[in-house]
Amino acid sequence: MRTIADLSFRELALVAEAWQARANAAHEQGFPYVQALVNEGHAAGASLAHSHSQLVWLEDEPPLVSQERRAQAAEGGCVLCRVLAEELEQRIRIVAERDGLVLLCPFAGRQPYELLVAPRECAGDPFTSDLLANALDLAADGIRRLRNAEGRTPLNMWLHGGGHWHLELVPRLTALAGLELGAGYFVNTLAPESAAGVLREA
Ligand SMILES: [Zn+2]
Ligand SMILES: [Zn+2]
Repeated sequence: MRTIADLSFRELALVAEAWQARANAAHEQGFPYVQALVNEGHAAGASLAHSHSQLVWLEDEPPLVSQERRAQAAEGGCVLCRVLAEELEQRIRIVAERDGLVLLCPFAGRQPYELLVAPRECAGDPFTSDLLANALDLAADGIRRLRNAEGRTPLNMWLHGGGHWHLELVPRLTALAGLELGAGYFVNTLAPESAAGVLREA
């Protein structure tokens, strides 16, 4: 079975192009927000056996995106820009960097090997960005590294626009249980610094 990690850059560029064309159509038809996502593996809610992505047209910006936007306003500037600057200086959670994009294990990842892909330059709309295909390619690189380190892993990946756009990728190596679902507290058994170290070498 092919996963997104097996797709060539050319194929990923077609995915980006399709996402951008469909997002345009959604906006024209009055849907302000499009949630682009990839679920891979039964445990991550994949509805088809082969690799695929989905676009959900939403009438409102979803709560998590609004929350990110509010955090940005409250901090008086782009939080992700500041985080990226700090991460690029420390280099302990960076996995790879190319094409003006960064792949890293975020400071407060919810699950082991959680990954984030973001452009270095601040931009709000992934659907008009020239870097979307490269971002998918860098995410695929992360998934290949994860596969080398841990074997095939079910995962969820999604795109966030609104603030500084980015891809979030959550491998499903552990199950969400009562503390995660009931309290919103995520227990991550692998420090992001360790995860990034493993993935850099993988
Ligand atoms: Zn920014
Ligand atoms: Zn996000």
